Amino acid sequence: MKLKKSFKTQPDSKGYFGDYGGRYVPETLIKALDELTLAYETIRRDPGFKKELQSYLRDYAGRPTALYEARNLTSLFNRARIFLKREDLCHTGAHKINSTLAQGLLARRLGKKRMVAETGAGQHGVATATAARVFGLQCVVYMGALDVERQALNVYKMKLLGAEVVPVHSGSKTLKDATNEAIRDWVTNVETTHYLIGSVVGPHPYPKMVRDFQSVIGRETRSQIQARIGRLPDYLIACVGGGSNAMGFFHPFAADRSVKMIGVEASGEGVNTRHHAASMTKGTPGILHGMKSYLLQNADGQVQLAHSISAGLDYPSVGPEHSYFKDAGRVVYHTADDKDALWGFQTLTQVEGIMPALEPAHALGFLKHFMPKTRKTENVVLCLSGRGDKDIHTVQTVLGDAKKEGCR
Ligand SMILES: *Cc1c(COP(=O)(O)O)cnc(C)c1O
Repeated sequence: MKLKKSFKTQPDSKGYFGDYGGRYVPETLIKALDELTLAYETIRRDPGFKKELQSYLRDYAGRPTALYEARNLTSLFNRARIFLKREDLCHTGAHKINSTLAQGLLARRLGKKRMVAETGAGQHGVATATAARVFGLQCVVYMGALDVERQALNVYKMKLLGAEVVPVHSGSKTLKDATNEAIRDWVTNVETTHYLIGSVVGPHPYPKMVRDFQSVIGRETRSQIQARIGRLPDYLIACVGGGSNAMGFFHPFAADRSVKMIGVEASGEGVNTRHHAASMTKGTPGILHGMKSYLLQNADGQVQLAHSISAGLDYPSVGPEHSYFKDAGRVVYHTADDKDALWGFQTLTQVEGIMPALEPAHALGFLKHFMPKTRKTENVVLCLSGRGDKDIHTVQTVLGDAKKEGCR
């Protein structure tokens, strides 16, 4: 491993991980971000906050989540042992609740009355609305008008949870425009409002804060795998959209050089088509959503649209710490395409009786290419970031076509 001596696991005081991160935002936001940074750094050391968060994670979210040895999946390849970190068993069905609960509690402790968020496919909106309910906060979710139409079920869920869903009609009527509106709301109402970002993206301190809140995944994995096999694993594998499940899973192992870490991005219809979301494989450093990171952009710096069969990986950039880990060689990034993900979905369902979300199905699909290179004495832990219920309709639609084309 070509890990440099200067490798760091914390950002600098301006929020840079090496060349990436920072705060590329209008002046009006700096004060709010400074206040949030200070509040977060104070509260995270507060034993009362830690204890309260732990009790919500345990009794409300269902932590610790299981570490399951997937013996049937292991037999399929007959190589390294495969373990699954079961974030799909969290309340609401994915790891997102780890961070929304923590930020909800932070908001309540800061005396905020409202939370605002943007959402694309709606999963983040639902997780935010859930946390707002349990902490008694108002919740406003901005959503592109096109997305509101496409994601009717999640819009309805948010409304049942008492959130106000605001359709955004400007621009392309999608996530980018919803983000602008959420930020506008936050700047206007910063005294009373917390802006809840759902992944390890955005301006400092969000990438670090969300990473810290998701690191519970990796801390649990570390003690569970050591109890099971008496040592650290050889490989960690996770899917990467914005990068929060992967970063939370990887981070507690970052200093253990024997643990090899692999992030799997979505290559959609293929990295050589225009329809993929492989920001680290095909992107170049650029600025989006207040941060500098690998970004899918054309020669003029226009952001390209990302595509993936899974809405959660459909993001044209990635958290800045991933960009840093990539350049430092600490994490290796590979891709899995839509077909790999469908294979991963069907295979886990058929051999283990577990239906994964289409996001971690990419990490599972990567195993098809990766496992033959491993040895029987090695151990792989894969982060199963969420369950597949939300994706059944997509799978049904696509598999019908796949059968006709004779893909399997
Ligand atoms: C949202 C989501 C992702 C992608 O987000 P990250 O920040 O990259 O973790 C992955 N898996 C599931 C199940 C999701 O809901």
